[in-house]
Amino acid sequence: MSIHALVITGGHGFQEEPFWEMFDSFENFSYDAATFPEAFKYLSIEGVKDYDTLVFYDMWQEITLEQQAAYQDLLNRGKPIVYLHHALISFQDWPEFRNVVGGYWKPGEGTYKHDVQFTVQIAEPSHPVTEGLSDFEILDETYGKFSVDSDVHVLLKADHPDSGPVIGWTKMYKNTPLVYIQLGHDGLAYGNPNYRKLVDQSIRWVVDCMK
Ligand SMILES: [Zn+2]
Repeated sequence: MSIHALVITGGHGFQEEPFWEMFDSFENFSYDAATFPEAFKYLSIEGVKDYDTLVFYDMWQEITLEQQAAYQDLLNRGKPIVYLHHALISFQDWPEFRNVVGGYWKPGEGTYKHDVQFTVQIAEPSHPVTEGLSDFEILDETYGKFSVDSDVHVLLKADHPDSGPVIGWTKMYKNTPLVYIQLGHDGLAYGNPNYRKLVDQSIRWVVDCMK
């Protein structure tokens, strides 16, 4: 089945060429790109009707009460979503958002470190998101000292002093199936075949969840 996605960025710079090249490499996949704040026009039931899934790679903060209500309604009714990397740190002033994504990187407490070589541990190899993957090495940015909700379904772990112990999960928020993957700072991650497989399989799995 071919999937049509909306990939949303904004609020944080990134290496654009290798990022989009990753999505171009996925088979049976097409996408449109949107950037905050313009991307808010898609975040409602009506706005997303042309897309099978939303992929967030933003770190946007400002959101009006009206925009919160439209996004909340979308999440309540259900839309497959994949949140990547700094999307964990979006909407810091909208407390419900941390319940949506299932983790919270608190300013002043959370840490980050670039260019860390570490092992990504596959916590559940039989899950469709991690299928075909075994523990792998990556050179990427880690986040530390962020909280993860106890009710998430853990898929990826790390055992490194600069990283939180849980770095990838799935959960249902209201009627929305979602995956969060902490990895993915730059081209070193986007070009890692294991990372690509994780993102690709996350997109396919959240879409399958809604069938
Ligand atoms: Zn980063």
